[in-house]
Amino acid sequence: MRKVGSVSWQLGAACCDPMRRGLRRDCACDRMLSYMLSYTDARRLVITQSKALAGVRPTLNLPIAQALGYVLAQEVRCDREYPPFRRSTRDGYAVHSSEAKAGQALRCVGEIKAGDTVSQALTSGTCVQIMTGAAVPPEADAVVMIEFTRRENDTVTFERATQAGQNIVSRGSEGHAGDLALQPGLRLGYAELAVAAQVGATTLCCHKKPRVAILSTGDEVVPISETPGPFHIRNSNTVSLAALVQLAGGEPVPLVNALDRVDDLSAKMEQGLREDILVLSGGVSMGKYDLVESVLKGMGADFFFDAVAIRPGKPSVFGRCGKTLVFGLPGNPVSTMVTFQLFAIAAMDILSGGEARPLPLLEAALAEALCEKPGLTHFLPARVEWPASGAQVRVLRWQGSGDISALTGANCFVVVPADRAEIAAGEKVSVLPRFDVL
Ligand code: AMP
Ligand code: MG
Repeated sequence: MRKVGSVSWQLGAACCDPMRRGLRRDCACDRMLSYMLSYTDARRLVITQSKALAGVRPTLNLPIAQALGYVLAQEVRCDREYPPFRRSTRDGYAVHSSEAKAGQALRCVGEIKAGDTVSQALTSGTCVQIMTGAAVPPEADAVVMIEFTRRENDTVTFERATQAGQNIVSRGSEGHAGDLALQPGLRLGYAELAVAAQVGATTLCCHKKPRVAILSTGDEVVPISETPGPFHIRNSNTVSLAALVQLAGGEPVPLVNALDRVDDLSAKMEQGLREDILVLSGGVSMGKYDLVESVLKGMGADFFFDAVAIRPGKPSVFGRCGKTLVFGLPGNPVSTMVTFQLFAIAAMDILSGGEARPLPLLEAALAEALCEKPGLTHFLPARVEWPASGAQVRVLRWQGSGDISALTGANCFVVVPADRAEIAAGEKVSVLPRFDVL
């Protein structure tokens, strides 16, 4: 069944040429492929449209221990100077630099450990043993690492020249009271949470996570708790998509699989359209029972693309229905996972209150030559490793986009550009790390 013209097009800048409309429907022949959106243009459209929809995101107050992965919706400011005192960064001796030259000796008159109050003045001809994180006495202007000293009873001899300021972080050099420590829009990772903890922000106002409805489609798909018939398959996509949503900082809302029937699809889509994002798997190809787009269209959806020049994942669909962004991803499990990583995470990032994280592409030398049909950008399951000679990537053997097991051995995808039919062993290629592994 051809569905040319069955969708309403509200095209983004990247595909406003009428020649490109409904291209997926016309691109069975390779000569048309050059009109299809590249994955980078498709991502750009996702980002633009997600920003257009995002508006002001709802917030909630969270104890710091629960805030990991949320996007901050408030400013966090320094409550005092950081560091709050002149801090020693080494175990050693606090000295005046002019008295601790190579070969000179000073009398050690005490010790200061982290947390101690400095009460004793440092007089000429003396030094104080000091520990990392302790306050440096006001008369000292350097800390000499213990490794570069010799000690006999109370006499400390210095082996190297000493520079004023060495191994001391001055008060307020990392932040002054009232300075911005964390700005709104930052995603809270371990370092950001540590800063919040340091300045005493025990509760953080964060943007709510986007709720992502997950709807698999297909008459052949059965729940994982059921025994599949001989020609049925278990619904692994809902599980992988829920995992991806969680990893990307969203709240998965798994729905019951929809049959390839207009009434069932509409009823389940209606549930999904109550959430921020609806991710569908399956039903977006050219088959007679691939009804996702036409049903969405009937429900008032606008589409921004319905084909991307990639393999796997060519028939990917992105649109908007009311206040919900909709991704129709091809049902083959590897296609579903790759396209989710390429497109849906960017939308989730923006609806989380932050910026879209860039695709973290790496470069690695190809271990073995490869040959792919040109015209589409290929994402091939692969394994990148870092021997002493530098990053090296090996494409794994796989049976195509239905082969989930191949992915368990992969930590990345080799990105083969659309204009490259052959790549020689040793050539540098682009590598997209698997979202949850690297
Ligand atoms: P479709 O994109 O609907 O043509 O689906 C392509 C193929 O993907 C199907 O033939 C199934 O083998 C597989 N598939 C579809 N949905 C799922 C699912 N929820 N879980 C696992 N595999 C699926
Ligand atoms: Mg199907």
